[in-house]
Amino acid sequence: MSLPNSAKLEALYQELILDHYRRPRNKGTLAAAASAEGGARNPLCGDELTVTVALDGERVSAVRFTGSGCSISQASASMMTQLVDGRTLAEVAALRRRFSQLLAGDPDAAADPSLGDARALAGVAKFPTRHKCAAMAWEALAAGLGL
Ligand code: ZN
Repeated sequence: MSLPNSAKLEALYQELILDHYRRPRNKGTLAAAASAEGGARNPLCGDELTVTVALDGERVSAVRFTGSGCSISQASASMMTQLVDGRTLAEVAALRRRFSQLLAGDPDAAADPSLGDARALAGVAKFPTRHKCAAMAWEALAAGLGL
C-alpha cells in the first residue's frame, strides 16, 4: 500500500462531494415555531439555500437545509449540517472561520480533521468563482443564528 497521492485524494474528495450531493444529509425543514431560518443565494450559479436551525440554549439541537443548485453548493450544505449539529454557537463560529481559511487555500485548514467531510471542498480554493457556492451554506446558517 502506498500513501494516497494528490490525484487519488482529489478523486476521493470528488466522490465525497458527489455522495453528499446525491444523498444529502439533513435535508428538510424544521417546524417554524421551534427554529430560526437563514437564506443565501448565488446569482452566478443559480444556487439557493435555506437553512433552519433549532437551539437548545447555546447549542444547535437540530439543523436542516433545503435548496437547489450546483453540486458544490448542495454538498457543502449537507457537510455543514453534519459539522454543526450538536455544537455550541462558539464552536459553530470557530468552524465557520476554519472553513473560510480552507477556502482561502490555507493548507492547515485543508488538513484539519475538525472540518470532517468539508475538507473535500479544499480544491474549491483554486476556483474563486466557486467560493460563493461553497460558502453560502455557512452564510445562511450564520444569518439564521444571527452570527
Ligand atoms: Zn454553485
